Amino acid sequence: MDYFEIRDILVKKDKSRFLFTVEFFPEEGKYHSDGHRACGVSLKPAETKALSGICPSCGKPLTVGVLSRVEELADRMDGARPENAVPARRLVPLEEVLSECIGTGVASQKVQREYRRLTALAPEFSYLLDMEESEIREAAGERVASAIIKVREGDISITPGFDGEFGRISIFGHEATEEKDAEHHPSLF
Ligand SMILES: [Zn+2]
Repeated sequence: MDYFEIRDILVKKDKSRFLFTVEFFPEEGKYHSDGHRACGVSLKPAETKALSGICPSCGKPLTVGVLSRVEELADRMDGARPENAVPARRLVPLEEVLSECIGTGVASQKVQREYRRLTALAPEFSYLLDMEESEIREAAGERVASAIIKVREGDISITPGFDGEFGRISIFGHEATEEKDAEHHPSLF
């Protein structure tokens, strides 16, 4: 594929060749919901509206996040899909999956060592997107394999980020143990 072919596929949304896009969960971003970090207040767009954008704790204007802006610009209801939409696959970076499975922070040696070991065997996207569960299990063990399958199925919960605080992923029903390090996700706000 060259530039022109790729461009053509994108423009025409040729579904036989444009299979899906790969995304993070937007809730992980630091400014997804509205709120005040110092006040411990996190709100959904509708709640912010109901409060006229004022923090119920300190009375100052709330830091309004991406989701509120999306709602403002939206010309259709939440969850509506345009007819010719290309599907998206959402993933959680492998380091974060390992962090939750191992129980230490993303930047910890345990996580980093395991991340390097696994990505020496296969590319990160293979684990996250295509590899058979049995193969992941063989390379990374039972817990990581089941975590990745849960992420693929969207069977995880995320506490959305707000006012400069990263969102927190929970795969097995408990929150990651350490604060995330901003340098780890240059692609997220
Ligand atoms: Zn406040």
